Amino acid sequence: MRIDLHAHSTASDGTSTPAELVAEAAAAGLDVLGLTDHDTTGGWEPAFAARPEGLAIVPGAELSLRWHGGARPIGLHMLAYLFDPADPALSAALARVRSSRETRAERMVDLLAADGIDVTWDEVLQDASGGTVGRPHLAQALIRRGLVGTVTEAFQPEWLGARYRVPKEDLEVFEGLRLILGAGGVPVFAHPRASVRGPIVPDSLIVELAAAGLFGLEADHTDHNPREQAEMHALADRLGLVTTGSSDYHGTNKTVRLGARTTSPEALAKIVAAGRGSEVVGG
Ligand code: AMP
Ligand code: FE
Ligand code: FE
Ligand code: ZN
Repeated sequence: MRIDLHAHSTASDGTSTPAELVAEAAAAGLDVLGLTDHDTTGGWEPAFAARPEGLAIVPGAELSLRWHGGARPIGLHMLAYLFDPADPALSAALARVRSSRETRAERMVDLLAADGIDVTWDEVLQDASGGTVGRPHLAQALIRRGLVGTVTEAFQPEWLGARYRVPKEDLEVFEGLRLILGAGGVPVFAHPRASVRGPIVPDSLIVELAAAGLFGLEADHTDHNPREQAEMHALADRLGLVTTGSSDYHGTNKTVRLGARTTSPEALAKIVAAGRGSEVVGG
């Protein structure tokens, strides 16, 4: 069984449509794919409709959360699986986050314009094709203008990494956890040690999150080095959390391939047994 529980489609900042994504997953030899677009369930139905025979889809999302307990706020990503997409509190919160992402991206367009870089809001919205707007969409506009060569380059500090970066209005981390659990979902902390992306939260927060219902840690991720990966396995063992592994595939917006990291059938079985808001589709 090859199980990859974290992938993005054009419903957020991936470059494959949900239908293309599930076809790619089957072609990559996956048996199970987690569909986890940022702050949206918009890709679920088109992915289910296009599901190839033999591929199981675990519906999910990746929530943008923020921890305010340190010297300065730290953003983190929480994967949520098998929640009820119609849960009023969770779906309203996700809609608020998506809306604030649009306001924030418009402000980044304004910052670029102030420096004479004529990225238009229309083109960013068009590229996002109705899905969750993120910095990778702005990165594509910079690439089209020849200002940067790659998405990775667009995330350097002189571009969207710092100079033109506006923070998002994320959900508070314990509020996010409550919303996921309230919608029958299973929360798994995405790439908890990915220091390459920015500041990471302390283990003490992970201990508190575990007490508040966190179910797992995404220990195996290409943004973790072998030491960070081992630390996350050890912490999960100590706290009784499951560990997952996944690619965090974003199509051509990143270089990682589907199935680059995988989750054990045992961990998946525990997640599926805990999910109460929606069902695995197919397989
Ligand atoms: P946003 O959610 O708008 O803040 O943008 C963050 C998203 O950009 C992440 O979900 C990744 O998909 C992507 N990303 C972050 N850092 C990088 C990077 N260094 N290179 C390529 N993509 C990145
Ligand atoms: Fe992303
Ligand atoms: Fe993430
Ligand atoms: Zn992701």
